[in-house]
Amino acid sequence: MLMETIENKVVLTADRPTGHLHLGHYVGSLRNRVKLQDSYRCFIMIADVQALSDNFDNPEKVRANITEVAKDYLSVGISPEKCTLFVQSLIPELFELTVYFMNLISVSRLERNPTVKAELQQKSFTDSIPAGFLAYPVSQTADITAFKAQLIPAGEDQLPLIEIANEIVRRFNRTYNTNVLLEAETMVGKVGRLVGIDGKAKASKSLNNAIFMSDSTEVLKQKIYSMYTDPNHVKVSDPGRIEGNVVFAYLDAFYENKAELEELKLKYQKGGLGDTALKSLLNNTLQALLMPIREKRAEISDDTVIDILMAGAAKARKIAIQTLAEVRDAIGLLKRTTDF
Ligand code: ATP
Ligand code: MG
Repeated sequence: MLMETIENKVVLTADRPTGHLHLGHYVGSLRNRVKLQDSYRCFIMIADVQALSDNFDNPEKVRANITEVAKDYLSVGISPEKCTLFVQSLIPELFELTVYFMNLISVSRLERNPTVKAELQQKSFTDSIPAGFLAYPVSQTADITAFKAQLIPAGEDQLPLIEIANEIVRRFNRTYNTNVLLEAETMVGKVGRLVGIDGKAKASKSLNNAIFMSDSTEVLKQKIYSMYTDPNHVKVSDPGRIEGNVVFAYLDAFYENKAELEELKLKYQKGGLGDTALKSLLNNTLQALLMPIREKRAEISDDTVIDILMAGAAKARKIAIQTLAEVRDAIGLLKRTTDF
């Protein structure tokens, strides 16, 4: 019985089409999606409307990256037979839901959100915040609830956003005396936040400090060899630091032989292990991981992904229409009695 309930759970997750997907996505969320798709109803959304909230002046970038992100999905093993893949702007019901939810949260609560706060800082939006950007957590609440999703495989930056979504859900259900909306839980990957190759706290498309899954052999190698290690580790015999060392952060995330990695760390700390040897180990590890992904990606055409996304939108929209009808009914809005 318990098993049945769990398997009936809906999984939903999304990415902004602001660039190709990177290794942060892989360890934070994609790996979990590939696992979950076998036992749950899975929805994966390309959040183009959310991407416009901080790229409204560059719609071409958002439009072009829809197909790139979809190719990244397929190349890591997300299956369109198991998951519904779709584009956010093709589901207008999400935006009607957003408007209803907007009344259930205060501006100050949105401003207090640590993820949004950090992003505002990063984007220099601190003096003049676009209302749409501040409200993107509300739009995200609509995305989650429209599909009655209860499990969100995502990186740790999503935790404060899912908290807001759950607050809105509780407030909606209490205010309208209903239980049509469901709360969701975040499932954070093994590495909830992968650092940038420049040592910044988070690898991100917008900061251009990530290793993309589609990077060529040469670009990957060049990014690894430019990684920040320990500035005081000059000679091979010098003792080196592990903390803040980007190469070790990536080995921690991707090198499978943990016992050997511990030995390498001890040796590095004592002195006697050079940065070039470490980088070469990381290069071999990541080239082996990304080679099959790169090869699979090269076989996928734009037409194939567009067909998949259109079929996904048709399926997703039916569900969103149904939820919106339940939401309108719960609020007590005028029932539509004629077709128009
Ligand atoms: P942008 O810079 O445009 O915000 P992004 O690189 O942050 O792009 P998103 O599309 O915002 O990527 O995030 C999609 C998903 O990937 C989210 O679940 C997020 O938590 C996860 N994610 C993104 N970057 C990382 C990272 N460095 N480590 C772990 N998870 C990440
Ligand atoms: Mg982001």
